[in-house]
Amino acid sequence: MSTQTEQPQTQKPSVLEMAREQLAIAAKYLDLDEGLHKVLATPKRQVIVNFPVVMDNGRVEVFEGYRVQHNIARGPTKGGIRYHPEVDLEETTALAMWMTWKCAIVDIPYGGAKGAVKVDVKRLSRRELEKLTRRFISEINMIVGEDRDIPAPDMGTNPQVMAWIMDTYSMQRGATVTGVVTGKPVPLGGSQGRVEATGRGVVTAMVEACEFLRIPVKDARVVVQGFGNVGSVAARLAMEAGCKVIAVSDRTGGIHNEKGLPIHTILQRYADREGGIQEYPECDKITNEELLTLDCDILIPAATAEQIHEGNAKDIKAKLIVEGANGPTTPGAEAELWDRGVFVVPDVLANAGGVIVSYFEWVQDLQAFFWEEHEVNAKLEKIIRNSFHHVLSVMHQHKTNMRTAAYIIGVKRVADATVTRGIFP
Ligand code: NAD
Repeated sequence: MSTQTEQPQTQKPSVLEMAREQLAIAAKYLDLDEGLHKVLATPKRQVIVNFPVVMDNGRVEVFEGYRVQHNIARGPTKGGIRYHPEVDLEETTALAMWMTWKCAIVDIPYGGAKGAVKVDVKRLSRRELEKLTRRFISEINMIVGEDRDIPAPDMGTNPQVMAWIMDTYSMQRGATVTGVVTGKPVPLGGSQGRVEATGRGVVTAMVEACEFLRIPVKDARVVVQGFGNVGSVAARLAMEAGCKVIAVSDRTGGIHNEKGLPIHTILQRYADREGGIQEYPECDKITNEELLTLDCDILIPAATAEQIHEGNAKDIKAKLIVEGANGPTTPGAEAELWDRGVFVVPDVLANAGGVIVSYFEWVQDLQAFFWEEHEVNAKLEKIIRNSFHHVLSVMHQHKTNMRTAAYIIGVKRVADATVTRGIFP
């Protein structure tokens, strides 16, 4: 009988290795100068902070946090702050680099950044979460700012955390600075449509890809991994677009029903319960690994990195993968999927909706003039559609896949900006 430890270990590259490998592929297509390649492969600034927080029981705990700014050639840096027990500087650097390409691919005037604190938020009280956030932002406040580096939410952080960041920064500046962070609650300078933006962008890209691949959207069988901000919104909007969402999952596992799951009901009645989506009765319970290899038309990985790897890529049955999460497919898996004709819409395009509406939020804050939700959604969908078709045309031109085509566009825009600005002094 085989035990878990006897099973072959799947070799996964680190996410930073993945990010650098993807850059190297684009650099080859662009015949990028060696020095310029070095500039783009390296983050401009990495900050590590260790800071104390007095916990509710009176004891002091020390937390480690990071802020990485990858590149400022096209504008101030922009990127989320992640609270998770397994973050590290390397992962944060890879995520910052991906943000640089993502902003360039959809042509918004930012470079990439990312922040993180090594913490399990589920173990914190609300008061501890607030204190940790305020102290972390105080530790990095000299490098953030509405014209320098603008944080946003990511895994483990939410609009309330963004409100505390805005307040802390404002108190230290002596003026209310709403544009220092995005993803805030709407009454505090947040944008309509921001909460749904990433999922909306994922589904907009999915619909365009279905049209290109001639997959009818109506009744397309969709599987979504991750039922947080991105996954739950993508599942709901896919259903509203006419798809049949046959399986969804969170970190506790998946639920599956071939007839389609009632996403609205699951969201309203089960998602916030102690047992989560597992409490929904009319379904089969499956593992996350089983979910990824279900027979379906479209797979939306919207949880975490490296879920589709060389160990399971050959078993993936979807015709189309739309990456809601950052880095869910390893390069080895992508090669296998490519050989089998599985079409992948890469994260840097598919999940750019979040940063696009964050950009809209920042613009609205700087102008103190706010837009209606339908304007935000229409502008977002237009950028995703235009970017999708631009990437598709570069894909055809270079006879490559969507990811490499997207990188060719993004890396070229950042490289051109670097060369045009010149290297100081
Ligand atoms: P979230 O914390 O709201 O939700 C994450 C979901 O994934 C939860 O349902 C969680 O239970 C599930 N999950 C975590 N680990 C899992 C695992 N190993 N297997 C299966 N499910 C797992 O986070 P989010 O904001 O929805 O982000 C999800 C992904 O999308 C992340 O990779 C994030 O970087 C990326 N992303 C988010 C945004 C955004 O605007 N929120 C924008 C771009 C990219």
